[in-house]
Amino acid sequence: MSTVSTASLITADQLSVQFTIGGGFLRKRQMLSAVDDVTLAIPKGSFFGLVGESGSGKTTLGRAMLRAAPISSGSIRYADGEVDYNLVDLPKTDLVEYRKRAQLIFQDPYAALSPRMTVRDIIAEPLEVMGVTQTREQTDERVRSIAAKCRLNLEHLRRFPHAFSGGQRQRISIARALVSNPRFVVADESVAALDVSIQADILNLLKVLQQELDLTYLFISHDLSVVAHICDHVAVMYLGRLVETAPTRELFKSPRHPYTKALMSAIPSLDPDHRGNVQKLEGEIPSPTNPPPGCKFHTRCPHAIDICKQQEPKLDHLGMEHDVACHRWQELAEQ
Ligand code: SF4
Repeated sequence: MSTVSTASLITADQLSVQFTIGGGFLRKRQMLSAVDDVTLAIPKGSFFGLVGESGSGKTTLGRAMLRAAPISSGSIRYADGEVDYNLVDLPKTDLVEYRKRAQLIFQDPYAALSPRMTVRDIIAEPLEVMGVTQTREQTDERVRSIAAKCRLNLEHLRRFPHAFSGGQRQRISIARALVSNPRFVVADESVAALDVSIQADILNLLKVLQQELDLTYLFISHDLSVVAHICDHVAVMYLGRLVETAPTRELFKSPRHPYTKALMSAIPSLDPDHRGNVQKLEGEIPSPTNPPPGCKFHTRCPHAIDICKQQEPKLDHLGMEHDVACHRWQELAEQ
């Protein structure tokens, strides 16, 4: 179990998500292990970053926490002080309630919004689908309230999404995700499709809304520099496994896993003395249908030795809420 000290909103315990892919004429069915034995606790009120390359399993883990990906083994518990759910076998009535409390902000604000619906209807739809409001007046009141909090011009509620820029569309997506008054929000690459100048606006808005609405975020990103800027905790995933987690300040001060160090060293530095220290990540992430034995990072790790190719490292608790899965982290820390 992760050594997070504050009360946890979501706790995954030895969670695995597997998919069967392929099959059909002359095609072999294969097992894809997207999330593999992940134990992770997200503190209530945190801005929790989940990072890794494409194919690391971070989106699948986020979706499992929303009960939108099949859980093969292990458990996920959600406890916000009002309800306490085991997400693995949630009865249908509780699942409806959970949908109000746990929402997703999509990556692409262009694809996520129906071009045939007005902004008002886009934001109102979850309320109607989940039966949160009973009358049109109640729905309009909720829509106007959340639109104002998301800094949307209320005059624009009658317009269609094509009239808006990427940043404004993302504000509409955020308003739609928050209109049911959730406690837990998964933001999956929510600024990745935006211009850099707009990214800061949206990140600041997410931060302000966190305080105003008492939210807990799981912020999924491939970009460690964005995560460093906004998150208070970070977990690093590689090929379905959790390899390191810590409070952001501690992780950036003392990264222990070679993969975390490689991701960090690729962040562009403003300091000319550090521009030469980039530890390039060689090769591609292996296929999750055929993961390497032992430590899954050994095929790309410059520090791999024999044991790394044979034995999967367990998560060690270092204190300071810092956990790492590497056979050699102590040795490497002393070098
Ligand atoms: Fe590298 Fe071995 Fe540590 Fe894996 S266990 S990260 S291969 S040193």
